[in-house]
Amino acid sequence: MEQKKIIVALDGHSSCGKSTYAKRIAVELGYSYIDSGAMYRAVTLAAMDAGLFGGTGEPLPGRIEELLDRIELQLRFNPELRRTEIFLNGRMVEDLIRSMEVSSHVSYIAAISPVRKKMVEYQRKLGEEKGIVMDGRDIGTVVFPDAELKIFLTASLEVRAERRYKELIEKGMPASLDEVRANLAKRDHIDSTRADSPLKQASDAIVLDNSDMTVEQQMEWFRKIYEKITAG
Ligand code: C5P
Repeated sequence: MEQKKIIVALDGHSSCGKSTYAKRIAVELGYSYIDSGAMYRAVTLAAMDAGLFGGTGEPLPGRIEELLDRIELQLRFNPELRRTEIFLNGRMVEDLIRSMEVSSHVSYIAAISPVRKKMVEYQRKLGEEKGIVMDGRDIGTVVFPDAELKIFLTASLEVRAERRYKELIEKGMPASLDEVRANLAKRDHIDSTRADSPLKQASDAIVLDNSDMTVEQQMEWFRKIYEKITAG
């Protein structure tokens, strides 16, 4: 008998390995992986291109709603690179949205309610058929409060900063460890204290601290949880 499809919601702090983990889980279950952070990053890039940020690094109020009406996001699978890529008004921006500049602006954009409303609508549409693994900050609390499996991933700030720094350097994107650490701490603060859909653990989420775990160990942990959930 074919296994019933579920939604796996994976939330947690910045750079704790959510996307690596979510991708592995998706491959294992034959599900689609959806990176909700990429959507907020793409909107941020559009806002930067439109000059919507003032000197303080925070967006100029008011203009974002008008910009939102002109933004169309699309996720497409690239079979050659075997990855899902995000398109902003038809332009592939998967790599551009990972820059430190976008990282340092994104949490301001993600705190704006009309932005969240539009992104959550899109995310829910993508989950209509289930069979997805989605990672983010509010997936288990707001986007899919009824998700069958919710994981809240966490790791120490130092471990997260080192992982992210390594990743940026490997991609040839300039950054310093101090800058990366400060950015993560700042994003966590803004994400956790915003009024609309703050980052927090859903009451029915299972917490996993992966500071000292390999991805393979995290997969072993996942298999046990998944078996329990789908057997019940
Ligand atoms: O996951 P990632 O680090 O790429 O997300 C970038 C930013 O997007 C986060 O720091 C957060 O401000 C925002 N975000 C969000 N809700 C989500 C996913 C991401 O607010 N579901």
